[in-house]
Amino acid sequence: MSDRPDIHTHAAQGLSAPDQKRYDDTLHCNRCGLCTSACPTYLATGNEGLSPRGRNQIFRAVLEGRLGDPRDAEGSFDTCLQCGICTSVCFAEVPTAKLMGAARGKVAQVHGAPLLQRFFLRFLLARPKLLEWTLLPFFLVKRSGVSRFLNRLGLLKLVNPSLAAAEELVDRVPLRFPRRRPPPADADVVQFVACGTHYLMPEAETATTRLLDKLGCRHGRADTVCCGLPGISTGDWDSARSLARRNIAALEKFSKAVVLADDSSCAATLKDYPSLFEDDPAWFLRAKAVSARVKDLSEWIVERGESGFPSASKAGEPAHAELVEA
Ligand code: SF4
Ligand code: SF4
Repeated sequence: MSDRPDIHTHAAQGLSAPDQKRYDDTLHCNRCGLCTSACPTYLATGNEGLSPRGRNQIFRAVLEGRLGDPRDAEGSFDTCLQCGICTSVCFAEVPTAKLMGAARGKVAQVHGAPLLQRFFLRFLLARPKLLEWTLLPFFLVKRSGVSRFLNRLGLLKLVNPSLAAAEELVDRVPLRFPRRRPPPADADVVQFVACGTHYLMPEAETATTRLLDKLGCRHGRADTVCCGLPGISTGDWDSARSLARRNIAALEKFSKAVVLADDSSCAATLKDYPSLFEDDPAWFLRAKAVSARVKDLSEWIVERGESGFPSASKAGEPAHAELVEA
């Protein structure tokens, strides 16, 4: 039970332990509204249901059973960007972004997650090479201009409005992806392969590799998979935990190395791995040990800039970042 049931008219009954914890989190919202001044979706719409305060109250209503069908609140849950800005300005530190992942999971629990989503989260994300090959035909269609043409005719909107919006949003896609080079046994840096940079902006990933070369680091890309953020964002905790276990096992092989992520979302997810295993002491400890070594690229540059980088490689020495056809 919550430690604050007395101040509320309603109370949730018979919740599972994880849902009870989420419910308690929603109760910590005192509805002060401070977060509304920072939430991008509220600022853009002025809609209370699209503010952190509104979202928390709606999720609370779902957990209390006051809202019959959680899908009625899907618009409120799905539009959260999970940027976490609200938590950073909230005195109670209500974890709205995480709660919205749980809220989406609740909708999926009642109505089932779309098959394509489950296939992507549970199968494709765990197989990076297959994902590259799966993306290539779509990227070719985009690069050839065919998708833009279909979009202008309004055909993509007929299939799915989100597909049309995505086509407009993504202005360029790669046809080659960076190759993985395993780190040496004595690596001091393991470059985490982030989906955003690897599949959409590989030039950023290779730039990070070149930087590590220039700084004289012993580094490489371990056999990791997606960090699991898509599963966390959609409330598919099983897929997130499964990917996290794979990553933890892969990164444990380089126990002295910094785990460097050039995508801040991945870095934040990797740092938060222990929270995925709160009910599993053995994996919690393993997650904690790996998470302690994770650095966001910018954070690492600032820290290392202060303490000194390893000696830079010789001038003219070729960087080993390479792009290859998938
Ligand atoms: S989430 Fe935090 S800042 Fe926003 S209304 Fe609740 S207590 Fe206030
Ligand atoms: S995490 Fe969601 S609710 Fe919080 S500021 Fe971002 S968009 Fe708004």
